[in-house]
This record gives sequence, structure tokens and C-alpha cells, in this order.
Amino acid sequence: MTSPGGYRHGADSGVGGAFKRRFEDAFMANYGVPPVVLARGQGCRVWDVDGREYLDMIGGIAVSSLGHAHPALVEAVSAQVAKLAHTSNLFMHAPEVLLAERLRGLLGAPGRVFFANSGTEANECAYKIAVKYGKAEGRTYFVAAENGFHGRTIGALSLTGKASIRDQFGPFPIDVRFVPYGDADALKEAVTEECAAVFLEPTQGEAGVVPPPEGYFKAVREICDSTGALFVADEIQSAIGRTGHWFAHQNEGVLPDILTLAKGLGGGLPIGACIGFGRAGTVLEKGDHGSTFGGNPVACAAAMAVLDTIEREGLLEHARSVGARLADGIAAIDHPLLSGVRGRGLWLAALLTDAKAAEVQAAAQRAGFLVNAVQPDAVRLAPPLVINAAEVTSFVATFPAILAEVQA
Ligand SMILES: *Cc1c(COP(=O)(O)O)cnc(C)c1O
Repeated sequence: MTSPGGYRHGADSGVGGAFKRRFEDAFMANYGVPPVVLARGQGCRVWDVDGREYLDMIGGIAVSSLGHAHPALVEAVSAQVAKLAHTSNLFMHAPEVLLAERLRGLLGAPGRVFFANSGTEANECAYKIAVKYGKAEGRTYFVAAENGFHGRTIGALSLTGKASIRDQFGPFPIDVRFVPYGDADALKEAVTEECAAVFLEPTQGEAGVVPPPEGYFKAVREICDSTGALFVADEIQSAIGRTGHWFAHQNEGVLPDILTLAKGLGGGLPIGACIGFGRAGTVLEKGDHGSTFGGNPVACAAAMAVLDTIEREGLLEHARSVGARLADGIAAIDHPLLSGVRGRGLWLAALLTDAKAAEVQAAAQRAGFLVNAVQPDAVRLAPPLVINAAEVTSFVATFPAILAEVQA
């Protein structure tokens, strides 16, 4: 099999192989040794340090919304860094105000915004709001979903429903009760007037791109309304066009009390946001929270460029149409290793009949496509929103050969 660039992607030789050995020596072991050493990108294409070309079907985990080196992002970041790179929160700057107002406009509701640097930090802000709200009201526990993912810092990790990454770092300061995702009856049972907040993803990303059943989020909203628990929608992976809407909760027609954002918002620059609506927007008072880098002018300028470009290039509608093309293309492949495809917009998982996602990821890489083995039997696709029909077609056309190589 050859790549879009005509190479047969091989083993750990060359410049990349040397970097991998140096990485292994210099870094903690938490990531293992990543399989490719990337050097540059353009649109949906990336090149490794040995000049091999790949089609990026994962976009840095739903982060590189505009692809790589998009002129609008390059221009916005370059102009801002040349003017003012940092102020701290002792001082204000225009890009953060413009971005906060822009997000409120896209949400259609006057939430109050806190900017952080990452997803987990956005959730830490939501967590602190919920703790403070809970203390004031005698609410002593949180509810979250089994297999949910909310981040790696201790607050967000305590809400993460995956024992293998959570349990060894407990006990946690807050009592979190886990319910099966998508089961409204189980949620109703778990949430009482002593529950401070319910944390849920509008589609579970790390669990393998698992959308909620029809009507689930309406039920969540009702359960939170009737008990007074705050409904926190973790949209860190699902927002900024990923499902073909600005925010995935817009698929469900409900507004949460708190929304958290990160990944796709900065198009590759680190930024997170926590937005509180109504009472959730006023729980934190002066001195309650902060971040030295949060809302950094360069990250805010990048995020504005991302939002402007999505709008100008019609990328929401594009994500729906080209995403449907990708989903339909995969669904039409008849192969014993492939059982189906799930997800929405440009956020999909190809489902396998066997726990061979890691092998599919490796075979795809050899064929010149970057994909992600998100679960043992699920291959995640979250390409840049700018991926074009021809690129989607090239992946769909090659996927059967990738599956065949694994099956052989
Ligand atoms: C990625 C992710 C996070 C964590 O974001 P980081 O930037 O890695 O801290 C939290 N929640 C969801 C749903 C995510 O996908």
C-alpha cells in the first residue's frame, strides 16, 4: 500500500526513528512513544520529519478545526503576537471581550464566561461553581456518566467514569455517582435535591463517539430543573462545528446551566472556556477563581479567527454534508472486520467486529492516513472541518485495503 504521497510508510528508521528513541529517553512514560514525528501541515495534510505525507483524519483530537496553517489563523495569531502576547488578568484586552461576546451571540443566551487554557481547566471552573453552589444549598454529591471523560486534573478526573484512569488517583474530595450514559431512568433515580450538578458529554468522545439516545438531553434538563441540580454540558470535544452545529447541545434543543469548551475553539492554540447561564453565571465572585494564562490574547485572537472562518466558509453546513459522505462511504463498505459507523457531522467512529482498532490505526498510518484507536473496537475520525470531498473519498477508497491488511 502506498500513501497519498506515494510512499510506503515504514518502520522506525530515519530522522523520525532517532527522535522516537530520544523521546523515550527524555519523557515520562505516560504517552508511550507516539508513532509519528510530525513536522508541518497544510490544510488536511501533514508531513513527518522524514517527508512522508499523511491525510489527517483526526485533527489533533478534534482540535485543528481549520486544518493546518490556515491563512486566517496564521494571520490572526501572527498579528496578535506581534502586538501583545500576554497581559495576565491584572489587565484586560480587547480580544477576550470580543471572543466572550461572540460566544454569547452564538449561544443565543447571555452566559457569563471564564477563559482557561485547556479542557480540564474549563471543567475545573465548572466543578468549583458546582461545589460552591452545592455548599450554599446543602447539596453534597455530583452525578456523571459511566465511561465519560472530563479531563485529567483531580476535579475533572473525579468526574471521569473510567476506572482505569481514575481509581488509582482517588479518593477524591467530592462524592461522584456514576450512571449509565443515555439511561434517563437511571439518571432520574440518581439525581435528588441533594445533588449539586450533573456532568455529561452531549456525545461521549473518548468512550468511542457515542451519541445520546433521542430525547435524553431533554430528560436531563427536566431532571435538573425539577431537583435544582446544575446541568453541566461538557462540550470540550463536541462543539465548534464538530457535529455540524456550533454546539452539540443545539442538536438536542436544550440549554445547559454550564457549558465547557476547549479543543476546537482555538484551532490548535490552547484555550478553554466555561460559560455559566443564569444563576450558574454568578456563583463565582471576586477572588474565587483565576488563571494567569487563561484568556491569553493570542489564544483569543486564534479563537476569533476560527469562529469567523467557520462562518465565512460555511463550515457547519460543510461538516454536515462532507461528514455524511464519510459516514455513508464507511457504511457502504462490506468487510467482515467492520460492523458499522456511528457519530454525527465530522465526528465518527468506525466500529469493528474485533478488538483490532490499534492494528487498524497502524495499518492506516502505513497507508498514509492518521486515525485514532479510541477504543479497542472503535476507530475515531475527527478530521479538520475543512476536509474536502476528494480527501474523504480517498480515505473511503483506501479503508477496505487497510481493513484487509489487518485481517490478513
Ligand atoms: C479532551 C476532553 C477533555 C480534556 O481536555 P484537555 O484539554 O485534554 O484537558 C475534557 N472533556 C472532554 C469531553 C474531552 O474530550
